[in-house]
Amino acid sequence: MPLRASDLLTLTREGLYCPLGGFHVDPTWPVARALITHGHADHARAGHGSVLATGETLRIMAVRYGEDFCRTRQEAKLGEPIRIGDVTVRFAPAGHVLGSAQIAIEAEGVRVVVSGDYKRARDPTCLPFEVVPCDVFITEATFGLPVFRMPDTSEEVAKLLASVALFPERAHIVGAYALGKAQRVMALLREAGYDRPIYLHGAMEKLTELYKREGIRLGETPKVVAAERAKLHGAIVLCPPSSIQDVWSRKFPDPVTAFASGWMRVRARARQKGVELPLVISDHSDWPDLCRTIRETGAEEVWVTHGQEDALVHWCGTQGIRAKPLHLLGYGDEEVEGASESASESTAGPAPGPAGAAVDLEASP
Ligand SMILES: [Zn+2]
Ligand SMILES: [Zn+2]
Repeated sequence: MPLRASDLLTLTREGLYCPLGGFHVDPTWPVARALITHGHADHARAGHGSVLATGETLRIMAVRYGEDFCRTRQEAKLGEPIRIGDVTVRFAPAGHVLGSAQIAIEAEGVRVVVSGDYKRARDPTCLPFEVVPCDVFITEATFGLPVFRMPDTSEEVAKLLASVALFPERAHIVGAYALGKAQRVMALLREAGYDRPIYLHGAMEKLTELYKREGIRLGETPKVVAAERAKLHGAIVLCPPSSIQDVWSRKFPDPVTAFASGWMRVRARARQKGVELPLVISDHSDWPDLCRTIRETGAEEVWVTHGQEDALVHWCGTQGIRAKPLHLLGYGDEEVEGASESASESTAGPAPGPAGAAVDLEASP
């Protein structure tokens, strides 16, 4: 009997499971053998028996969870086939954060690709996404609605620098996720020619140091000293999103609050959070890039893990591609605020759209 995709990948309580290889991919519970796509907390958890991931992802996990985050670890080199049980796996860059990879699983000429989280937009802090032709493509759909079209990041960084020039006495407090987004914003600022120190909240420090050790040039990034905050006129300060509004940020001189996130594409959300300067910078694919990627893989079948699944599944149908939502729970937490609000808006929003989502969106970016 010919091999079916479900022999290569299926769903268990812990998440995606490969029966022929005896391993899980990005399991949300501790398992004997895990293959990990990238270091965000919703995909990379501590407590597995063995972990196979890229070297960068293994080092990110060690920084986050301690050196004993699993019993044994193995580094996957990009592009190199690795035999596990009756399947061959191969890691390919996903363009999402440093070390992020898609995982191709293959046996008897059938190939399934688990993309983890991915984006096609340029990112100076990680390798670009590589299209891996496959039979079944497993995709996220964080921004899986046609209204989600992300602007060029250089425009967003220019907005921030224009504000710094306009208000030289005010500190600019930029909320950004500690793994990936924060370092991407720093690298984009450097590309734009900003050469002053970029100040960091303590929560950003370890991962930023790791990025520097991995060869990503981020310039001078001192940690904010609490007693010095009032003196940081005109400084750019990066902090976790939750710190934008808390008492920590109020000690800076007349702070301008900014937030770097794909969710800033939703103007109402920026208003809700009291964000004065929304910066639309996403580490996930927008709608055109989700569709383009699915087409480029040539997959006949698509499984959608999490996010705005329904619209993408529907679009696949219009293209003659079989598709199903997996409704995986536990993903999306890397952007905790965005994910939870997205969920509440799609159930309690005022005007459900045709795909069942009720995101409050403005007409233009
Ligand atoms: Zn992620
Ligand atoms: Zn994720």
